[in-house]
Amino acid sequence: MAETQRLSQNDLIARKNRIANYGSTNKNNTNRENPLPIATKSLQKTISENAILAALSVHDYRRIQPNLETVDLLPGKNLYNCGDGIRYVYFPINAVVYLFTTLKDGATIEHGVVGSEGMLGISAVLGEMTTPNQARVLSRTRALRIPAGFLKREFCTGGMFHQLMLRYIHNFYIQSSQTAACNRHHNLNQKLCRWLLMTDDRAKSDRLEVTQEFISQMLGMRRPYITAALGLLQKEGIIQNRRGYIEIIDRQALEESCCECYEIMK
Ligand SMILES: [Zn+2]
Repeated sequence: MAETQRLSQNDLIARKNRIANYGSTNKNNTNRENPLPIATKSLQKTISENAILAALSVHDYRRIQPNLETVDLLPGKNLYNCGDGIRYVYFPINAVVYLFTTLKDGATIEHGVVGSEGMLGISAVLGEMTTPNQARVLSRTRALRIPAGFLKREFCTGGMFHQLMLRYIHNFYIQSSQTAACNRHHNLNQKLCRWLLMTDDRAKSDRLEVTQEFISQMLGMRRPYITAALGLLQKEGIIQNRRGYIEIIDRQALEESCCECYEIMK
């Protein structure tokens, strides 16, 4: 029987709304048309805080939910290292995870950031069970994870989950290519503003628990340059730069100081 025949008219409307809303990093996103079945209320709430999982149909959700588990992520921990086998795919809740590459000489550079709008472990979904890069957690938080083999099989069955993941992979590809262009052609102040905005969107807090050393590694710039650029933003009243955290004071001014990349990537 065709899938559309199994779903009620309300289910079809709800699905249409979920697809239309998917991908938004709006902190007030309340896309909750269908109550989530089976799981405890705590797990339901956790699942609904990741945009991909929240957009699943009830049919897909019932099949996937038993394989999900909640895990704590520690700041500075690498979820993946280059060449690692991918055992799990992660769906961040309020986590911020940076994907980056380390060259032979030890130099590092980010090429993407993932929060509750997305997932980590794309390679496994596409059939490659090792990761070509590294993924590092910014601050202590939680995520849901699911065995990579299970998710790969789910992806291959097609359907809505397949569509959601393809759409996210496409969006991530845009983000990654724009990050490469930004890293090459825009100045440090612009890159730093873009980095703070992208992190702020995913951290769901204007107080970002981040060290200058971490920013230095992700932007591939020496720490004294990061210190100077942060100092400039603080002098203009845009941020408060404190030991171990950065607080965004004037979000609009931060956006106005940024290059065009944030508008393309957000
Ligand atoms: Zn840029």
